[in-house]
Amino acid sequence: MVLYSPGRTSSYPEEAVKEGIRFHFLGGGNEVGNVGCILEDVAGTRLLLDYGLAPTKPPRYPNEAPKVTDCIITHSHIDHLGMAPWLASHHSTRLHGTALTGEIAMPMWNDCYKVSRIEGYPLSWDKRDIDEAVDLWQSHGFNEKITFHNWKWQLLPAGHIPGAAMVNIDTPTHRILFTGDFDTRDSKLVNGAEPIECDILFVEGTYGGRSHPPKKPEQERFLNRVTEVVSRGGTCLVPAFANGRTQDVLMLLHQNKPNLNIHIDGMGKFLAKLYLEHPEYLRSSEELEAAMIWAKKVSSKSDRKKALDADVIITTSGMLDGGPSIWYMNRLRDNPNNAILLTGYQARGSGGRKLLDEGKLPIFGTDIPIELEVDQFTFSTHCGHDEIISFTKQCKAKHVVVYHTDPLQARPPLVAALESQGHTVHCPVNGESYTIID
Ligand SMILES: [Zn+2]
Repeated sequence: MVLYSPGRTSSYPEEAVKEGIRFHFLGGGNEVGNVGCILEDVAGTRLLLDYGLAPTKPPRYPNEAPKVTDCIITHSHIDHLGMAPWLASHHSTRLHGTALTGEIAMPMWNDCYKVSRIEGYPLSWDKRDIDEAVDLWQSHGFNEKITFHNWKWQLLPAGHIPGAAMVNIDTPTHRILFTGDFDTRDSKLVNGAEPIECDILFVEGTYGGRSHPPKKPEQERFLNRVTEVVSRGGTCLVPAFANGRTQDVLMLLHQNKPNLNIHIDGMGKFLAKLYLEHPEYLRSSEELEAAMIWAKKVSSKSDRKKALDADVIITTSGMLDGGPSIWYMNRLRDNPNNAILLTGYQARGSGGRKLLDEGKLPIFGTDIPIELEVDQFTFSTHCGHDEIISFTKQCKAKHVVVYHTDPLQARPPLVAALESQGHTVHCPVNGESYTIID
C-alpha cells in the first residue's frame, strides 16, 4: 500500500485566508482518532495540531499534511502522534509538546512500527524517520507562553493521561482552545482539566450522548469482582492499554487490595518508569511509585510462568490484540475459576470485541471458544456527555467545533445540547475547510 502518492495530494487549499480563522481537519473531524487539524489566519500563520493514525485493521491515516513548519502534539496516544515521523522526514516540521509526551513518543512510534510489520500494514515512514522526529521535538511546560509569528500559545493540563495537554492559542482576532483528548474528572494518575474562556473551542466528542457511570461505584464493582474471582481460587486477567490505563488500574488495586498478588506485564511497566521521571505531570508520584514497587514486574519467560499463579495480571494489549495478554489467555482459559476483566473500549474488529460478541478469541491464528467469565468496566479518561457540556458552558465559547467523534451516534446529541446552550456549533468533515469570522 502506498500512502500519499507523489505530487500534491493534500486536501488543504492553496488559497490564502481572506478573513478570520480557517480550520481544516486532515483527519479526526468526523471520526474518532486519526487527528490532524490545521489552523491558519490572514497573516498566513499556520499550525498543525496533532498528526496521528487510527490503529484499526487496516489502519486509517489522515490526509497528507501541507508544508507546516510547526506541529503541536497534544498527547502520546498513537491516534494523535502516529504520523509525526512522516511530518519530520517530509517537511522537517518542528514538533512541540510536553516533556513527558516527548519522552513517551519514541516507544509509542517504535511499537506502532513493530505492530505494522506484524500485521502487514506498512507505514509511510520508517525507523530512521523516528530519529528525525526525536531530533525535532521541542518540550514545553504547562502555562509556558510561546510566541509564534503573530500568535501566542501555551499548553494547559488536559487530564486524560500524564503529559496530555490542551492547546490555548491567542491570535490577533480570536482566543482558541483545542482540547485534545481531555477529562475534567480526576483520575488516579492526573488531575482533571480546567476550563478557560475562549472564542472558539475545539472539543473532542468521543462520548457525546453517553454519560459515564459514577466513578466510585464502577471501581467498587471491579474490586468486588476481583475479590470474588480470587476467593474461588482463580486469576483475573486484566487487559489494559499501556499508556495510562495499566497504571490507573494498578493504583486502584494497590490502594484498595494491598494483600493481593499482582503482576504487571507489557509496555505499561516501562511507561510507568517514564512517568516517574516526570513527577510534575502526576497527581501523586509517591502513590504511583508505591504501586510499582508493590507489583511484581514480569520481565522474562520464567516470570511470565510464575505470573500464572497471580491473583491479578495486568497486561497489554488492552483490546486482546496480541501482546502478552494472548499468551496468558491461552494458558488461563482452561480453568473456569479464572476471569477476564476488560478495562476499556473494545473497538470493532478487535479481539476483545469478538470475545464480547461471539465468545471467541483469535489465539495464534485460530478462533478459540473462551468459556471464562468476561466482564467489562468503564474506566474511561475522556469527558462523558455531561462533562463536555458543562466544560463548554464554562469556557463561554461563542463557537464550538465538535471533532474526534462518531458523526452519526455521538455528535447529534452533543450538537443539540450545545446549541440549546447558545453556542454556534460546527461539525467538521475531514478534508473540508471552514472559516470563522466573527
Ligand atoms: Zn488519548
